[in-house]
Amino acid sequence: MNLSKVHQSLVGEAQFRHVQAEQAIFRDLVDTWELVTNFPKDLRARLQKDCPLVIEAELMSSADKSTSKALITLEDGLKIETVLISQNDGRQTVCVSSQVGCPLACEFCATGQNGFSRNLLAAEIVEQVLFWQRYLKKEGLNRVDNVVFMGMGEPLLNYEQVIKALKWLNDPETFNLGARRLSISTVGIPEEIKRLAGEPLQLNLAVSLHFASDLQREHYMPIARKYSLEELMKAVSLYQKKAGRQVMFEYLMIRGINDSDNDAKLLAQLLSGRPLSMVNLIPYNPTGRFLPSTPERVREFKKSLEDLGLKVTKRRSYGGDIAAACGQLAKK
Ligand code: SF4
Repeated sequence: MNLSKVHQSLVGEAQFRHVQAEQAIFRDLVDTWELVTNFPKDLRARLQKDCPLVIEAELMSSADKSTSKALITLEDGLKIETVLISQNDGRQTVCVSSQVGCPLACEFCATGQNGFSRNLLAAEIVEQVLFWQRYLKKEGLNRVDNVVFMGMGEPLLNYEQVIKALKWLNDPETFNLGARRLSISTVGIPEEIKRLAGEPLQLNLAVSLHFASDLQREHYMPIARKYSLEELMKAVSLYQKKAGRQVMFEYLMIRGINDSDNDAKLLAQLLSGRPLSMVNLIPYNPTGRFLPSTPERVREFKKSLEDLGLKVTKRRSYGGDIAAACGQLAKK
C-alpha cells in the first residue's frame, strides 16, 4: 500500500471522488477498492491496480493478549515494526516507527544495534496506525486512542515527515486524534526540540534521558557526545516555557548501570526547579547485554526520587514475550 498514491491516481476525477476515497480508507477502513461500491467498476479496477490498499504484515500477539506486534513490509521491501497495546481500561495505544532502523546506536537498544536504512514517509507512518485501526475493527474492539512515536528510529531526525504524519493523524477527516493523544519520544536533539516548541500542535513530549551525567550518557548513547545535557536541558526549558506543557523524562532502569542512590541524586539535581517535569521509570527489557534492575531496586529508586521532590511514575512493560517492548523492535 502507498497512501500517497491515492490522490495522484484520482487526478482528473471530480473532487467528490477524492472525498469518497478518503472516507472509504479512513472511515470505512476498507482494504480493497472492490468494497467501494459507490465508485464505478472501471475506476475500482484501475485503483486496485494503481494503488492497492492491502498492507502486507506479519502479526504476533503476546500470551496475555495485551500487546500485538506487526512486521510491515514497505513498498520497497524494507520492513518496520509497529506495536498495539490494549490497556485494561479498553484504551488502545499504537506505537509507531519513524525510521527504518536507527542511526543513533544506543547501546541498550535492539533497533540501534541493527543499523539504519532510511527515513519513513508520512504516509508510511500513518499506514501503521491504519493497519491497527483495521485490525481493531475486525476484532470488534475500540478504535485507536493514542499514538506514540516510540518505535524504531529517532522521530526528530525525520522532522518534516513526522510533523506531516502528526497533522494527518490529528485531521478530523481522517483519524481525528486530538494532539494530546499524540506523543513524541526523543533522545534529545536540541535544535529540533526548539523547533517543535514553535509548532501549533499541543503534543506530548518525552525525552529519553536514561542517565543524568554526561559521562554515562556519552558512554551508552553516542548522540550525547554531540549534545551535552546542558544543551539538551536548555532546549527542554525553552519548550516548556513556549508550549507550557509538561515534559516526561524517560528513565530505563538498568541493573548496576544507572540505578544507584547516587544516580537518583544526580537525576534529582538535574530536574530540580523544573515544575513541568515528570520522571517515568521504565523496566529495562533485555536485548542481550544488560539486565533489568530488580523490582525492589526500582521501588527504592522511585522512593528516593519522590523524597527528593520529583514527580515519578513507573511504566508497566508490555509485550516482552514477543520482543515488542521498549527498545526491542528490530525488524524480526
Ligand atoms: S533508543 Fe531510540 S534513538 Fe537510541 S538507538 Fe534505539 S531507537 Fe534509536
